[in-house]
Amino acid sequence: MVSARPAVQELPAYRPGRNPADLAREIGVARAVKLASNEVAFPPLPAVVEALAAAAAEANRYPDNGAVVLTSALAQRYGVDPAQVVTGCGAVMLCQQLAQSFNDPGTSIAFAWRSFEMYPLLARVAGARAVQVPLAPGRPGGPADTHDLEALAAAVDDTTRVVFVCNPNNPTGTAVRRAELERFLDTVPADTLVVLDEAYREFVTDADVPDGIELMRGRPNVAVLRTFSKAWGLAGLRVGYLVAEDPAVADAVRKTHVPFSVSSLAQAAAVAALASEDEVRRRCAAVTAERDRLTSALRERGLDVSDSQANFVWLAVGEEAAGLAAALEQRAVITRPFAGEGIRVTVGTPEEDDAFLAALDEVRSVTIAR
Ligand SMILES: *Cc1c(COP(=O)(O)O)cnc(C)c1O
Repeated sequence: MVSARPAVQELPAYRPGRNPADLAREIGVARAVKLASNEVAFPPLPAVVEALAAAAAEANRYPDNGAVVLTSALAQRYGVDPAQVVTGCGAVMLCQQLAQSFNDPGTSIAFAWRSFEMYPLLARVAGARAVQVPLAPGRPGGPADTHDLEALAAAVDDTTRVVFVCNPNNPTGTAVRRAELERFLDTVPADTLVVLDEAYREFVTDADVPDGIELMRGRPNVAVLRTFSKAWGLAGLRVGYLVAEDPAVADAVRKTHVPFSVSSLAQAAAVAALASEDEVRRRCAAVTAERDRLTSALRERGLDVSDSQANFVWLAVGEEAAGLAAALEQRAVITRPFAGEGIRVTVGTPEEDDAFLAALDEVRSVTIAR
């Protein structure tokens, strides 16, 4: 009998997310709302759909493995050299490539916890140690929902090849600010790569939360991850990118690229999305306004909601998380529970968020009545 590597055997089995159509059928309602995966609710932009149709007509050809057009559009957008930019099959794949490119077995990857759930998994696959540094309260007396950068810096040792700083942090939504992040970057040794995972950057409204690509300049051990999956509305197409200050970092990541893994459709769509940036900005403004409305509505209900700079909110309900998510699901609203910690709720359309709030009120009135 064949057997997988022990590290792989120990990985949790993949569990697909709840599909709203199946849920609606199961509980006998017309439609269910999915607020579980941090996508934007808007359909792809018209220019994107057009570009996809044109690219579809050439799908018999392999994609451009160097993604030259997309890479140079990104380089131009950020005022960097194309040699500093690497595209990947989603930012998730770039995370995995970073581990493959920088982590030998026995080295480590450091990150806050709780943070993006991929980090510990990709460390294990690479045979690296995952050094997880607990989050700290962002507000006095509040839940542990924010990066503790001093503790993270202290956890870096001479085995640490990569540090992920997810800013804003998934799933808590909180962001670290310029002064503390600069202090952190000044502390991390030059031979440890700091990856600022900015999957939600476009939703940041606090001017004190730095743009990682600005912060990166002059710091050769810093790179920034971004994605077209969230604000740019292309989650189904799988395209993300890394911008590194040192082209050698980008080169190393390029070497572990799975050939042709960024499809020609993904490349064409991303280029078209970048050309429609004004519309994307308007959409993000609508999302952040709705985030603030949802946050206020939850706080008016006496709930502890973390300060979100992303397109989701975090309710640190602790032991109630799994039960609350299950009860919401019975009322046709899918959220993302983290058992024992909290639930993450994606900002949807105002109608979707109202459906969530109504379901939540119903669940809480049942709980209180009991
Ligand atoms: C969604 C997300 C990503 C990347 O998503 P892709 O769809 O793979 O581009 C990366 N990091 C974080 C923290 C995310 O939440």
